[in-house]
Amino acid sequence: MSRSWALRQQIEAVLSDERGTLRKEAPVRVAMLYPSPYRAGMSSLGFQLLYREINARPDCVAERSFLPDDPAAWRSSRTPLMTWESWTPVSHHAVVAVSLAYELELPGLLECLDLAGIPLRASDRGEADPLVVLGGPLTFSNPLPAAPFADVVVMGEGEEVIHAILDAVEAGGSRSAILDRLVDVPGLYVPAVHGERLLPVIAADNVRLPGHGVIVTPHTELADMHLVEAERGCHRRCSFCVMRRSTNGGMRLAEPDAILGGIPDHARRVGLVGAAVSDHPKLVEILDRIVAGGREVGLSSLRADRLSPELMELLRAGGYRTLTVASDGASERLRVVLQKVIREQHLLQAAHYAATYGMRTLKVYMMVGVPGETDEDIDELIAFCRELSRITPTALGVAPFVAKRNTPLDRTPFAGIREVEGTLRRLQRELRGRVDVRSTSARWAWVEYALAQGGFDMADAAEAAWRAGGGFAAWKRAIRAHARDVQPPDEALRMGRPTGRFAHEAHPRA
Ligand code: SF4
Repeated sequence: MSRSWALRQQIEAVLSDERGTLRKEAPVRVAMLYPSPYRAGMSSLGFQLLYREINARPDCVAERSFLPDDPAAWRSSRTPLMTWESWTPVSHHAVVAVSLAYELELPGLLECLDLAGIPLRASDRGEADPLVVLGGPLTFSNPLPAAPFADVVVMGEGEEVIHAILDAVEAGGSRSAILDRLVDVPGLYVPAVHGERLLPVIAADNVRLPGHGVIVTPHTELADMHLVEAERGCHRRCSFCVMRRSTNGGMRLAEPDAILGGIPDHARRVGLVGAAVSDHPKLVEILDRIVAGGREVGLSSLRADRLSPELMELLRAGGYRTLTVASDGASERLRVVLQKVIREQHLLQAAHYAATYGMRTLKVYMMVGVPGETDEDIDELIAFCRELSRITPTALGVAPFVAKRNTPLDRTPFAGIREVEGTLRRLQRELRGRVDVRSTSARWAWVEYALAQGGFDMADAAEAAWRAGGGFAAWKRAIRAHARDVQPPDEALRMGRPTGRFAHEAHPRA
């Protein structure tokens, strides 16, 4: 068996376990590329919504492709990146539509384009190359470091504006003729024409809610789960969050009948998706009807201040065994600074609910390195986690704070790798044996920060880092060599820690 054939057989085995796969023939071929492996890509409802949308057009077919689990195996077997449904080279499609969820997926995009044999830079592509269209959650904050690799960027919700792109491609002509038709369409950013000027994000019409997933698969974190949007956006205003209400028109709700009516009979589990899904005023009714149908449920986010005995009972009946909530700020004071409405009393109540309703663990997500954070904030966090763990088994998921564009905390500095690592070590040490502390890497958070704040300069850095193997040392060298305005990884140490008072003054409320 050739190595290329073996790769195809692995993919066929995964496809054979899917329900809902779409297969068709049509003149305009679109490769939908997810620059992370299948497990992540198929957990993205937005990716599935676009797959449904494009395949609903009689003149278009969309097939999927993902960053391979083992790119080296593809490279050594000289297998170009293929679409999964018909095993066609990605480069043979008229359009490659990429969904980027967050900054650190950018090297995956470069890897995929390279494996596909498509020139990385839009400026190096010729008439025989596909049009590379970039979209996804990253476009809500800052797609600039990815923009030189894209011919067109869809800013925000893409289900409607994708048709303008497909119409332009179907009308034919040269690449420049196609781009000419797109350059003035609201929501479309053409980097070669618009330069580093970020355009506003767009929202799709509310009649499109709720979006239903298409494919159910056992091979994701959300195994065998049908994904459906209960709402879009958020009406709250946490100052660090890209999805806060000013970003995209606030919270838009789907009606229970529309949510429940589109669930396929074969779906054993239903995942309700939305930035603030637990704020849906009819959540209890929706969950009640899902659970009454004998199905398990999942929620993409759950606010501690929305929990109630009724909701907890439904979560237990729907298969919940870990209660996951976010506190975000390390202390009560920082939660106020971050305009987070969650308070200690809500988190304590969540711990009591977890204990009462048979949850194995209360998992609390939070950030460290928030602007203005002091040692006293971390003292309070440690004491509070001990208190929670006396009520119920508790796990802490910690992420270093990264300032994002399109938020009030944009341009605030990264706390410093050593600073953040010191805080993480302290949490591990002082909570050992009581609270399970898991954290994402401070080093990679600094790379994420550089990409989140960067422009086209960070495209140069990303390409250099990827070409040099993509390790942290390669990124550090590349950022130093190319980035125009990125704070060094440990500048915060040299500056000393700011005081809490500074934090209130430096970060005005929205
Ligand atoms: S963190 Fe959650 S509640 Fe706050 S603005 Fe973002 S989505 Fe809304």
